[in-house]
Amino acid sequence: MSTSSVSLPTYLIDVQNLVKAYDLLPVLRQITLQIQRGEFVALLGPNGSGKSTLLRMLCGLSKATGGIIRIGGWELPRESAAVRAQIGLVSHKSLLYDNLSAYENLHFFAKLYNLQNDRVEDRIRTLMSQVGLHKRTHDLVRTFSRGMLQRLSIARALLHNPDILLLDEPYTGLDQDASAVLDGLLQAAHADGRTILMTTHDLNRAAALPTRIVILSRGVIGYDQPAGIGAVELAALYAEITSLVSAR
Ligand code: ADP
Ligand code: MG
Repeated sequence: MSTSSVSLPTYLIDVQNLVKAYDLLPVLRQITLQIQRGEFVALLGPNGSGKSTLLRMLCGLSKATGGIIRIGGWELPRESAAVRAQIGLVSHKSLLYDNLSAYENLHFFAKLYNLQNDRVEDRIRTLMSQVGLHKRTHDLVRTFSRGMLQRLSIARALLHNPDILLLDEPYTGLDQDASAVLDGLLQAAHADGRTILMTTHDLNRAAALPTRIVILSRGVIGYDQPAGIGAVELAALYAEITSLVSAR
């Protein structure tokens, strides 16, 4: 029961002067983004602006060309195992196996995360009811709707109880009902104290739940402010920022 003597870092996610280039093509140019514990950040930006690249880099799935990434005080790429333990990722790819049941999928990932065996069953049961899929626990994933897959992806991302949830366009392809369910899950994760960074093209959603809005355009942060403006105002701002930055 020892507690760490290391003081808590000011920022849970601390990105400084981050550069990413593919071959010689710059995608992110000197990004600095610092996120405190408990924030819910919406990351907006046109297609190709580097949102997914940034999320992948935060989990250590893609290497920085330059700059610093620290997650909970741990630095990438050196301490990537410690970083990964703190992050749950919900990406475009569901990372789920079609021919396994929901339970088998979660069990498989629990093993990957080295979760204690005697706790796994309980954890899976709890998560499946949290995401409202408890009745489908033993059904094959290939029979799931897009909304159900998305919910199961969130359960998978939460398996190891990470402090941080990264979501890449989680609303894409969801109907109204499924989107509302996702709203509830994100709200609950945020209320649980998790720090959330979510990319989305849905400006209504960005204006609703998140506490902070960041707009990425052409590889730089063109806007970074606390949330609190309405969807209409955000849409006007988004148009202005993305056209301003791209006109440079
Ligand atoms: P967003 O998620 O904002 O749409 P991405 O991060 O997917 O943007 O992509 C940003 C840019 O990086 C795009 O120009 C894309 O073509 C390029 N890119 C992304 N992944 C790779 C890769 N593996 N190899 C080369 N270029 C890539
Ligand atoms: Mg993307």
